Amino acid sequence: MADILVYSEKADAALELVAKGREWAAELGLGLSAACLGAGAAEAASALAAHGADRIFVSDAAFDGLPADTVAAALAAAAAEAGATVVLIASTRRGKELGGRVAQKLGAGCVSDVNALTLEHGELVADRYAYGGATVAREVITTAVKVFAVMPKTFAVGDPVAGAGAVVPLPAPAASAVRVVGRRAKEGEAVDLTAAPRIVGVGRGFAARDDLRLGTELADALHAELACTKSLADFEWLPESRILGLSGAKTKPDLYLAVGVSGQIQHTVGVSSARLIAAVNTDKEAPIFALADYGIVGDLYAVVPALVAKLQSL
Ligand SMILES: Cc1cc2nc3c(=O)[nH]c(=O)nc-3n(C[C@H](O)[C@H](O)[C@H](O)COP(=O)(O)OP(=O)(O)OC[C@H]3O[C@@H](n4cnc5c(N)ncnc54)[C@H](O)[C@@H]3O)c2cc1C
Repeated sequence: MADILVYSEKADAALELVAKGREWAAELGLGLSAACLGAGAAEAASALAAHGADRIFVSDAAFDGLPADTVAAALAAAAAEAGATVVLIASTRRGKELGGRVAQKLGAGCVSDVNALTLEHGELVADRYAYGGATVAREVITTAVKVFAVMPKTFAVGDPVAGAGAVVPLPAPAASAVRVVGRRAKEGEAVDLTAAPRIVGVGRGFAARDDLRLGTELADALHAELACTKSLADFEWLPESRILGLSGAKTKPDLYLAVGVSGQIQHTVGVSSARLIAAVNTDKEAPIFALADYGIVGDLYAVVPALVAKLQSL
């Protein structure tokens, strides 16, 4: 039987793809396989089996830190073994790189950065932002095998199901054509905005770098992560890792609170899937209000301290 094959190096993202993959596999009369590579693969495989994967291709060899070509070769081997006609990979930084490589090895077409994937009349249709976020392109893959790299949090994790998937061991990874000559830790702080349940986003409404402490206080009071528009990162007021949007993180938090952010499309593509959006802006015509569930038209220098005081009194 042909399969849908699912992979992500991130456990939650893999479970999201398994949930949707299981639904489509049932509709298309396919099996559902998953791949788990690297340390902790056996444990991850049990979770994927409990969520409905029929077969899990497992290798607990040391994949972490291996060049992408090695990981892609292992995934392509799993896809061939599964007879996969659809490969779903989470479109993380690593996943995007793997998607193209796996597709090349399988002679498949590939769409990455997919922010919506739907099954329409038996065909998977991918939505991705085009022209700098100004429009959405709808794309189908016409090759027999199709690889989609789908943004994390596009789908929800499903409930566990009855039944146990079969574990299929994968051979040890092939030698890489790439020789790693050194590694350096990335400078600056590491932040994963995609994992944050609440985010406070700050923009050019803040008149000075020091004033960002107001944003930090608000984020702390809300137990939220602080993020920013690209403009503030361009000023080097905050690191690039905190940009939300086309050039930064695409997130799906429970709450996004935009403060002094105009809401240009290149920013909002990173937050438009938030469950609840609120905004503080002096300009009642600011585009962010078209997206927001709640808005305060007002000066952040008055509104933010009042919000922080209220939150701290609760
Ligand atoms: C190819 C490309 C990629 C891009 N990628 C990204 C991206 O990934 N992320 C991103 O964010 N941007 C991105 N941009 C930039 C984007 O187009 C906008 O320029 C940027 O998001 C605007 O940032 P801002 O909202 O901080 O500033 P502005 O647009 O200047 O908005 C500032 C807002 O603050 C309000 N304000 C002013 N004073 C106050 C006050 N005292 N109290 C409350 N509100 C106040 C104003 O009314 C205004 O609405 C990209 C642009 C391009 C061309």
